[in-house]
Amino acid sequence: MKAHERLLAYTAYPTGSDPNCETIPSSPAEWDFARDLQKEMEQLGLTNVTLDEHCYLMGEIPGNIDNYQGPVLGLIAHMDVSCEAPFENIKPQIIHYEGGDVIQNEEKDLRIKVSDFPFLENYIGCDIITSDGTTLLGADNKAGIAEILTLAEYLGEHPEVKHGPIRVCFTPDEEIGRSSDEFDVEKFGADCAYTVDGDAFGECQWETFNAIEVNVYINGFSIHPGSAKNKMINAARIACEFDHMIPDSETPEHTEDHEGFYHLCEMKGDVEHAEMEYIIRDHDWEKAKKRAEFLRSIETFLNGRYGEGTVEVKMEESYHNMLEIIEKHPRLIELPLEIIREMGTEPDTSPIRGGTDGAFLSFKGLPCPNLGPGAHNFHGRREFAVIQSMDKAVEMLITLVQRIACEDKNI
Ligand SMILES: [Zn+2]
Repeated sequence: MKAHERLLAYTAYPTGSDPNCETIPSSPAEWDFARDLQKEMEQLGLTNVTLDEHCYLMGEIPGNIDNYQGPVLGLIAHMDVSCEAPFENIKPQIIHYEGGDVIQNEEKDLRIKVSDFPFLENYIGCDIITSDGTTLLGADNKAGIAEILTLAEYLGEHPEVKHGPIRVCFTPDEEIGRSSDEFDVEKFGADCAYTVDGDAFGECQWETFNAIEVNVYINGFSIHPGSAKNKMINAARIACEFDHMIPDSETPEHTEDHEGFYHLCEMKGDVEHAEMEYIIRDHDWEKAKKRAEFLRSIETFLNGRYGEGTVEVKMEESYHNMLEIIEKHPRLIELPLEIIREMGTEPDTSPIRGGTDGAFLSFKGLPCPNLGPGAHNFHGRREFAVIQSMDKAVEMLITLVQRIACEDKNI
């Protein structure tokens, strides 16, 4: 079976993870998907297939080298899809792309526009999988799962392809930032791993943001507006004042590449009380800390103006740039880059403007860069996968597992 055929089948599971649900997994559909994947893994000859109480599905593609001394490789993808766009009743379709906009839905005039996504034109002559434009597709990250299992199928049918044991894990709840929470690195038992959770084929990423979560609480003083002169302290207006002190140019909508930002995710409030939620993101930890200090200085300034205790800022480190770990394992990135180039594609190594499962796992002792499965426009209705890119991603993995087997155990 081809990887894209698996993806088509997997879109039937509405596995949108739910940030308002406290349990892992956060949606019952993840269980349904995991149980069926478990059967598929067993049918494909994976061994030690286990589904634990938090819906982490693990298994092993058995190695076929006697006296194997190389590293145990791990491959990871996530089963949930984003809930930022509708994820139920997905109707995937294959469109042969010959240029121009991709028409997803004639009747509703829904299309993937070249003007919005100029990189579409890289795929002229390819076959694209999209939804009917009313839902996301879920190639993030079911394309990764499809490719890992297609690799397993290929290796099962080609015993002449020599490789070490390959540990596979499909996780729940990545999209709501919880997929590494219950990830049992020790049980997984890999020496190094890749998440297959990027975008285009040819991506290889080992740099993530450093992340700090910020909560701002503002306490006002409410009094009838008719007699408020020199007495009222309006928390909602102080919240606006706080936000105005943040440089406009350092927000997500004005930054790219290695530029960090402050992002106001949410604000609510009235005269008595206001709350704001920010995130700070920067690839450079020193710069991230400077941003945190800057928010502290706003707190101090506003408390000077309105009285101590008016503004309270709470901050918490969320994740770190995995670069500092991956740097110590250069072969882990040299190998995929070399293979991608051999396949005639110039690798894309631009930093991730976010976090990955791999970032958390790297700090838990499992160095884990990220590879692109050949899909685009995640978390939205214009999401698409490219069949030829998915095939290349599988081909790349087939070469990668053989090359990794020739490396030192402490790669
Ligand atoms: Zn993903």
